[in-house]
Amino acid sequence: MPRPNPQNLSRPARETRPLIPVEQKNKVRNVMDRIPAKVIDAFEGNPGLKPCCKNVRDHDIELFKTHEELVTPNMAIITCSCGRKHYRAAAGGVKVSN
Ligand SMILES: [Zn+2]
Repeated sequence: MPRPNPQNLSRPARETRPLIPVEQKNKVRNVMDRIPAKVIDAFEGNPGLKPCCKNVRDHDIELFKTHEELVTPNMAIITCSCGRKHYRAAAGGVKVSN
């Protein structure tokens, strides 16, 4: 059995899809009615987060799609004022429009 040729072993890096912005950046407090309560709870009730990061209502939120054909965004990036980014899969949880 021939030794594997290292060139054959090299595969293209796992595809990293660019995130497609769906909405302009917004304050979480402005879109509270569209964010599942469990997301808010996950911030406010997380003892591992810094106090500033728990204050999710003041964070910026950006909504993205990972695939152009998706109707609703499936990824949310929530950015604290300290610069920490919190990624949330938003599977069906965040609506584009009210
Ligand atoms: Zn923070």
